[in-house]
Amino acid sequence: MENAPLQKIRLLSPGSPNRATAIVGGEASGIVNWNDIRYPQFYDIYKILLKNFWIPDEIPMTKDVKEWGTLTPAEQEAYLRTIGLLSNLDSVQTRFILETSLFVSDPSVHAILSIIAQQEAVHNQSYSYVLSSIVSLDQQNKTFTRAHSDPAVIRRNQFIVDLYEGFRNEQTALALAKSLVGSLILEGLNFYSGFAFFYNLARNQKMLGTSTMISYIQRDEMQHGYFVAMLLRAILTERPELDENGEFTEFARKTIGMAVELESDWTREVLKGIPGIDLEEMLGYVKYLANKRISMLGLPDLYPGYTENVMPWIRAYSDENINNIKTDFFEQKARAYSKVTDDNGFDEL
Ligand code: ZN
Ligand code: ZN
Repeated sequence: MENAPLQKIRLLSPGSPNRATAIVGGEASGIVNWNDIRYPQFYDIYKILLKNFWIPDEIPMTKDVKEWGTLTPAEQEAYLRTIGLLSNLDSVQTRFILETSLFVSDPSVHAILSIIAQQEAVHNQSYSYVLSSIVSLDQQNKTFTRAHSDPAVIRRNQFIVDLYEGFRNEQTALALAKSLVGSLILEGLNFYSGFAFFYNLARNQKMLGTSTMISYIQRDEMQHGYFVAMLLRAILTERPELDENGEFTEFARKTIGMAVELESDWTREVLKGIPGIDLEEMLGYVKYLANKRISMLGLPDLYPGYTENVMPWIRAYSDENINNIKTDFFEQKARAYSKVTDDNGFDEL
């Protein structure tokens, strides 16, 4: 059954129920009635995603423009490389989410994926926006294309793209589940060394506009990762045959472990020599994140002992405490942060 191809959803299927009979491969009319959905907790996710709305060019960059010239050459280099990498991840994710949603029978999931894809498009806009503020058009263009020839970035991105292409080539529930592990890695692990680089600048009072933007992106990505994990768990619950002998669990553990290796390689290369960044701590942070992500799938830690964030300063700007960010730190107008919590029923799945 796990090898039966999923059908591309029909725009409307009159006669089928509004509440989908399954997330994938089920029947549904195509109409979203939020009061009659398969997983009521998905409505909470949808509302949180909407509340997170933000517009990149509302973030003032004038101070960043002045400070750019005060960064060390290593910091400038890491800044541009990291933006180039993030733009690649977000471009891929916009397309993956849109394409995947065409094979999801549950219309409430389709609606949530639409919002996630929209947010990924905004993330891409934000990278263009910050770069256009601080460097020439020529350098902007180079930044967006250099990731294509950067071996550490290629290895890291190709790993995710291969998982995604696996589903594009063969639209089965199993391939979808595997690609969602890739998506959990992209949303929940691959962005974070890059984020940490910008928070490190921020704690040294540098490039606060950029780090404000990054904190909004991170808030979105955490929510996306959270939803991807929920979705994956729901699919595995609906289709227990996908993990009949624990193969899928083994696949998830191996894949996340491999992602940690690739992330560590990239981190060692790009963040080497950045004042304030301790590489060993960063690598521990990556393992800590991997543990958090795998626990969202209900699986035990991959790296025993990595249970605490060893770089607590990151928490001041992100992660669970994002709703506690002091707005005066960023010298921005106050924004209503919505809270990322466990109270949306995730554990009930
Ligand atoms: Zn994104
Ligand atoms: Zn995302």
